[in-house]
Amino acid sequence: MHHRKDTIIIGAGLTGLVIGHKLKHQHPGHQLMVLEKSARAGGVISSFTENGYLAESGPHGFLDNCIESRELLQETGLETECVRASLQTFVRYVCIDSKLMMIPQSPLKIIRAPLIPWKDKFRVAGELFKEPLAGEPTVAKWAEYRFGKALLPYVDAVFTGTYAGDYNELKIDAVMPGVRQMEQEHGSIIRGVLAKILQARKKKGNKQKLSMPSMTSFPDGMARLPQRLAEILGPESISFNCEVTGIQKDAKGWLVETVHDTYQTANLVLALPVNQGLRLLTAVDDTSPLQQIPEAWIATVVFGFEGATLPPGFGFLIPEREQRFTLGTLFSSNMFPNRAPNGHIIFETLVGGRRHPERLELDDETLIQDALTDVKGLLALPHNPTYTRVLRPAGGIPQLEKGYPQLLKWRNDLVRENPGLYVCGFGWEGIGLNDMIKTACSVGETIISQTTQIQEQAEAKKIYF
Ligand SMILES: Cc1cc2nc3c(=O)[nH]c(=O)nc-3n(C[C@H](O)[C@H](O)[C@H](O)COP(=O)(O)OP(=O)(O)OC[C@H]3O[C@@H](n4cnc5c(N)ncnc54)[C@H](O)[C@@H]3O)c2cc1C
Repeated sequence: MHHRKDTIIIGAGLTGLVIGHKLKHQHPGHQLMVLEKSARAGGVISSFTENGYLAESGPHGFLDNCIESRELLQETGLETECVRASLQTFVRYVCIDSKLMMIPQSPLKIIRAPLIPWKDKFRVAGELFKEPLAGEPTVAKWAEYRFGKALLPYVDAVFTGTYAGDYNELKIDAVMPGVRQMEQEHGSIIRGVLAKILQARKKKGNKQKLSMPSMTSFPDGMARLPQRLAEILGPESISFNCEVTGIQKDAKGWLVETVHDTYQTANLVLALPVNQGLRLLTAVDDTSPLQQIPEAWIATVVFGFEGATLPPGFGFLIPEREQRFTLGTLFSSNMFPNRAPNGHIIFETLVGGRRHPERLELDDETLIQDALTDVKGLLALPHNPTYTRVLRPAGGIPQLEKGYPQLLKWRNDLVRENPGLYVCGFGWEGIGLNDMIKTACSVGETIISQTTQIQEQAEAKKIYF
């Protein structure tokens, strides 16, 4: 069958759902269809409940410091449902020499904390006098050049926590374009950050303290967000079990081939992770500088304990040099209420990542045992867990490594040369939920206004451990 729509969106992950929602919200008459290969909405977002425990196999939450995400919560009515954990009150830890070092959340306290020796703190301050680093350095190379060696384990921890990545492979220009821009504009990151703080203070009025954002989720977990978006879009606008097998340009716009039907549309949105998007795009343009990019896959090992307590805070991250089995642990029952039965705690331990895909080959029982042995070396856990479960996410985390800036340029040229084509999703404009929501809002706006897509200015995001 041949269907005609104003807009076809491929993928009902968060990106595709938000674009669909924005189009419907601002233009109820807009004829759209979201085509989803699987039987459910949400993509890698997936919450898991069992025996009174609630865990996530994908994202655990997003920070409420993004205007577009806050607006989305208002528009969907989720603002009144969501649960928040403020970074002001929740610390995190980084494992250094087999001990958990607490990372305070304010810059002044970080400077005073015994995280690195004083001589290395002076080296960090020397960043003020470093020229911008030329070329396309990796995160590790760039961080060492600007701040010195002593900070590297902490930088590694940040990129383990966000990308499950290897900071010797990730490119700084790809993962932190805003920070690189700051380096160019201010000649120093410290100077750039101070300028930003002063600017924000001026905006708020000098006397008001700048507040920290909160990690945001929902009482039944992150799956509530795509579930609500799918509910608002309605069954008439989403087709499940409907894999797109091919796309091509035609005289009136785009033809989209699915396992069941063919669609003709003026606007075609690929709301897919980079690799899945690239596979479909070869039919439109086969000159992509990369056929695919690496992905980091992880497994989440969920532990429930009766009568145990966790240290205060969100959890801890482990740099590679510690040579441990796990990447880090989230103290889920500290973050959000009702994640474990009364008198119990739950924490979720991450394994695998870019550096250790071989660990994901292990069976569940071995993963649980090895993860437990590792965690017991860092947390005081008096007895064996009352609950364990291994969760394996539906997708890997795109890694923005060698060749990624060229790939992004190719994508930008492609959409510029093909009006009505939109390529976004996991890995293109970042990897976090806020990045997806921000880009999805901008794509929705562009389709509605039928203007050419404006490339967003890179933003220097704050780092929270
Ligand atoms: C393990 C893990 C932990 C994470 N933790 C966090 C976190 O704590 N905080 C945070 O901000 N972000 C986190 N993220 C990132 C966040 O989850 C993603 O940014 C976001 O969910 C990506 O949404 P998406 O819609 O772009 O892609 P996806 O969720 O991958 O959705 C793409 C959809 O497209 C469908 N699809 C694919 N091919 C086709 C086809 N040919 N035809 C039709 N449909 C197709 C897929 O089935 C899928 O439903 C995490 C990601 C992972 C994997």
